[in-house]
Amino acid sequence: MRYLLAVIFILLTITAQAHEEKGKPYALVIHGGAGTILKKNMTPQKERSIRAKMAEALRMGQAVLDRGGMATEAVVVTLKVLEDSPLFNAGRGAVFTHEGRNEMDASLMDGRDLNAGAVAGVTHVKNPITLAREVMVHSKHVMLAGSGAEEFASTRNIEMVDAGYFRTEKRWQQLQKALQKEKASIEAENQIAALGYDPEDPDQKFGTVGAAALDSHGNLAAGTSTGGMTNKRWNRIGDSPVIGAGTYADNNSCALSATGHGEYFIRAAVAHSICALMEYKGLTLQQAADEIIMKKLVKMGGEGGIVALDRDGNISMTFNTEGMYRGYVKGHSEPVIKIYKTED
Ligand code: ASP
Repeated sequence: MRYLLAVIFILLTITAQAHEEKGKPYALVIHGGAGTILKKNMTPQKERSIRAKMAEALRMGQAVLDRGGMATEAVVVTLKVLEDSPLFNAGRGAVFTHEGRNEMDASLMDGRDLNAGAVAGVTHVKNPITLAREVMVHSKHVMLAGSGAEEFASTRNIEMVDAGYFRTEKRWQQLQKALQKEKASIEAENQIAALGYDPEDPDQKFGTVGAAALDSHGNLAAGTSTGGMTNKRWNRIGDSPVIGAGTYADNNSCALSATGHGEYFIRAAVAHSICALMEYKGLTLQQAADEIIMKKLVKMGGEGGIVALDRDGNISMTFNTEGMYRGYVKGHSEPVIKIYKTED
């Protein structure tokens, strides 16, 4: 009898250890853009669709992490779902440039070795985040732009589409509205409207998508994908494809993706600054995020937010706007999705 109990005890210990090994905590956090997102301007139907699509994206990434997949893979799989949805300003449903084109930017970073890949101003790549990964893994470079990036895409197995694929009526109307406003204030001090960001527009939101993941091997990764800003011109590129501004990942500190008024995020080197505050100053993730998003950016007048993860699985979803589409899963948990500031 004693012998039997000892065997059962040993078996239980081994099972518990194996479970712990396999079940190291993993987590995934995403955003779908920040801005003046107010409940009074939202239809229940639209809100439902957005929440459902974000939950779907989280579940896809969660499945990758659950089977021991890499953080980078989880980020790509998750962002592809959001790029394919016309609800967000990335891939299909991207905003229009001044000339009526969809020019997209994306980036991906691996926290294991600080490898990174980014593309800017692509117009035929169905999923820009997949091309960012190809740049990271299969080129000697970090960032490729425009036709060169698409030429590189043609040497890889990347799905290309006609430019019309990205077009949605809603984004087209947003451009028309921005063009009218621009015309009306041509002389104006209203440079901001010229870049498509108008704080007085109640429907204003950015709609960029981003993700940060911690995999069961303890590695961090982050990625971001966007159409940029409505009515952008002159091949304007925002923060999303800029490593250190819109995206950063380092196993020594954190992984994060940003969304907001990109010019400010580039100037404040938002993504890297938050990680650096953790690594060099010993701040917690939330302290670092507050420092940059709630203090530094606010002082500069830069609106937006971030989603981020540290290697212990702590999550930050910090923004200085009225709302940010955001959500996360931790291990097997059901997706948690939030939109408004008041939901915290
Ligand atoms: N940060 C993006 C850009 O400036 C826009 C966004 O996040 O919605 O291009």
